[in-house]
Amino acid sequence: MANNFSSLTARRRAAAAALSPRELARQLTCNRREFLRTAAGLAMGSALLGPSAMARAASTRKKRKVVVITFGGGARDQETFAPEGQENIPHLMRELIPQSAFFTQVVNRGILGHYVATASLVTGVYETFNNFAAVPPANPTVFEYFRKDLKRPRSDAWVVAPSNGFNRIGESSHPSYGAGTGATVILPKHLLTAALSGASGDYDHLLRDNYETPFYAPELGGREFELQQLEMLLKLSVDDFKAHARTLSSPDELSVYIARQLMRQVAPSLLWITMHDIDIAHAGAYSLYIEGIRRTDRLCAELWQAIQTEPEYAGNTTLFILPDFGRDSDEDSGGNGFQHHRTGDALSRTTWMMALGAGVRPGVVYDRAMESTDLVPTLGSMLDFSASLAQGKPIPELL
Ligand SMILES: [Zn+2]
Repeated sequence: MANNFSSLTARRRAAAAALSPRELARQLTCNRREFLRTAAGLAMGSALLGPSAMARAASTRKKRKVVVITFGGGARDQETFAPEGQENIPHLMRELIPQSAFFTQVVNRGILGHYVATASLVTGVYETFNNFAAVPPANPTVFEYFRKDLKRPRSDAWVVAPSNGFNRIGESSHPSYGAGTGATVILPKHLLTAALSGASGDYDHLLRDNYETPFYAPELGGREFELQQLEMLLKLSVDDFKAHARTLSSPDELSVYIARQLMRQVAPSLLWITMHDIDIAHAGAYSLYIEGIRRTDRLCAELWQAIQTEPEYAGNTTLFILPDFGRDSDEDSGGNGFQHHRTGDALSRTTWMMALGAGVRPGVVYDRAMESTDLVPTLGSMLDFSASLAQGKPIPELL
């Protein structure tokens, strides 16, 4: 069986080499749908069959919540959804996807750097700033729209970000929004560094900040998360935090630990968690890249479990999981295969998204093309705020 799949994949790759980017994206989408249909038993979707998300959400009396996880760092289908990759994502395949609405063709037309691409996801506009600069997004973020229109306090919108380079992602430089109107950004590595106050030897594996440009480490300005808040908001003593961190194996595990504490103690209605472990692929070790995918798969399932068990989230929360972008193919002469995301080809731009939980029709695959920038307007329609400057469009299958 595996051999048949492998030769099938090889034939598909050979055929794909002759296709235009648009045809390649469609081909990738068809393959993804086929992989999901055979492995997870999903049905093909139709927008006409989808019930109203708002009508479903109205059945719960609790306040609607949304959690977004970026499956970050970028992974390719051959290490994830293709038959030879499915063993790396058992939790997505067996637990999450069967409960999801799965979108097979989410195209990212922006810059493929992690901070700028995540900022584009957050604003619904393809941001164009330098990926390695400590600048805020130019366009209003989802957090600013959410808080302004729904009159929510700062405590209701949070970002857990993997890298100190993401510290400005919570609010834009837009004149109608900006300072004080967006999300609080927690940088778990920054928090751990502060808690350790110098002696970081046992924790170096949790503190590696940037896989692509190790020399880029911005001086933190803006709104830093102080140690006092660790104790007052998250109800973690510095000693407990350090002791628990010692048991963790990666920065994303640290992020999920912080996110769970945040859900328990603060219960924000809009929570954005950016994963980044997979990007260790830049170091060139395939085994570490695969390990990152497997860990991210497990952590997504842990967060879904947390959503179902935390009283503030159970039954009233919609979870979105999507990558920031993919990685280079093995065939492209301008790329380096799994190691980098340099070519900007159709494979690295054609990503996916799954939605599950409150208001989502489960077990359906949707193939039509949509864009990364559609997420924010969709969240606006779901939560009832206007993402007025976003470029994307609400996804009708989720409304
Ligand atoms: Zn990268």
